[in-house]
Amino acid sequence: MARVLITGAAGFLGSHLCDRFINEGNEVIGMDNLITGDLKNIEHLFELPNFEFYNHDVTKFVHVPGPLDYILHFASPASPIDYLKIPIQTLKVGAMGTHNLLGLAKEKKARILIASTSEVYGDPLVHPQTEEYFGNVNTLGPRGVYDEAKRFMESITMAYHRFHALETRIVRIFNTYGPRMRLNDGRVIPAFIGQALRGEDLTIFGEGTQTRSFCYVDDQIDGIYKLLMSDYVYPVNIGNPKEITINQLAHEILELTGSDQRVINKPLPADDPLQRKPDISKAAEILDWYPLVSREEGFAKTFEYFKNIPNEELFKREH
Ligand code: NAD
Ligand code: UDP
Repeated sequence: MARVLITGAAGFLGSHLCDRFINEGNEVIGMDNLITGDLKNIEHLFELPNFEFYNHDVTKFVHVPGPLDYILHFASPASPIDYLKIPIQTLKVGAMGTHNLLGLAKEKKARILIASTSEVYGDPLVHPQTEEYFGNVNTLGPRGVYDEAKRFMESITMAYHRFHALETRIVRIFNTYGPRMRLNDGRVIPAFIGQALRGEDLTIFGEGTQTRSFCYVDDQIDGIYKLLMSDYVYPVNIGNPKEITINQLAHEILELTGSDQRVINKPLPADDPLQRKPDISKAAEILDWYPLVSREEGFAKTFEYFKNIPNEELFKREH
């Protein structure tokens, strides 16, 4: 049984990671300051003797008593709307938060995996994106706070690996969806499903010709788990390479929800990447990992979750 610290534990991916590590028979410490997460994502774990929760902001010194075998650093605002609203915290959690957790990993001699992102490729000029591509990020644009925090996070992690011989892993996560996303966090799948459920028109930003490749959460968690258990220290893309336009996505969501609303166009946010699709040959070769869940199956499970959320949450306006 390993002792595992998961930051961002009350968020979408963090809460699914807690479940996975608990199910594998480990002791899990979840840490979160609840800035974009919600305790209801992990409340089912509170009764368990092998789960503990620390309400803590990881940009402040992180102390965990006792030994630790693994640290998974997932704390960070993750949706464009969130990180545009809290840009300084986003930079701090990627920079100071990561530094604190690397220091903790060094003290505990723990292996640490950090959550990087396809956003390190910016608005990519290479398609699909391989891990060797250095990216095309506008450091000064509004999304730069997230992209550059994540790029710094990768650099400081490699520095700790090289300078302190720390055991490190870096996952570059591509758009992932599923139950426990916040309906109003602005990310496109919950945004469209929420609009469909409220009987509103679906808002497509720009012409809707931009592309994304959506990965179901179970596949993502499995890839992250395999990467942590591997001995590979360089970044690995984890995502589903099935690419679609946002127009196509809107129509699939209308069909899924049986809605007859229209789609309407809104301005495209600054630096919104025009195309995104992971090259996953490294994950396939090193981890023997491939996504298994089709969009149809993943969308159906996600819709089932959102269909059951209470009306006050469905109609809550955050932005
Ligand atoms: P989320 O917003 O659901 O979860 C993030 C969690 O981190 C929240 O519970 C939030 O309260 C917590 N948090 C933020 N700042 C914190 C701080 N200073 N101290 C402690 N806790 C803090 O987002 P998510 O989709 O679960 O993303 C988790 C991680 O995965 C993030 O690092 C994100 O950058 C990365 N990621 C996610 C995706 C995706 O598609 N979901 C894609 C790329 C990268
Ligand atoms: N998007 C959209 N309508 C929405 C929300 C998002 O058309 O209501 C678009 C957004 O401009 C982007 C894509 O959907 O091109 C994916 O957005 P998301 O925020 O989910 O992820 P990211 O841009 O970080 O990949």
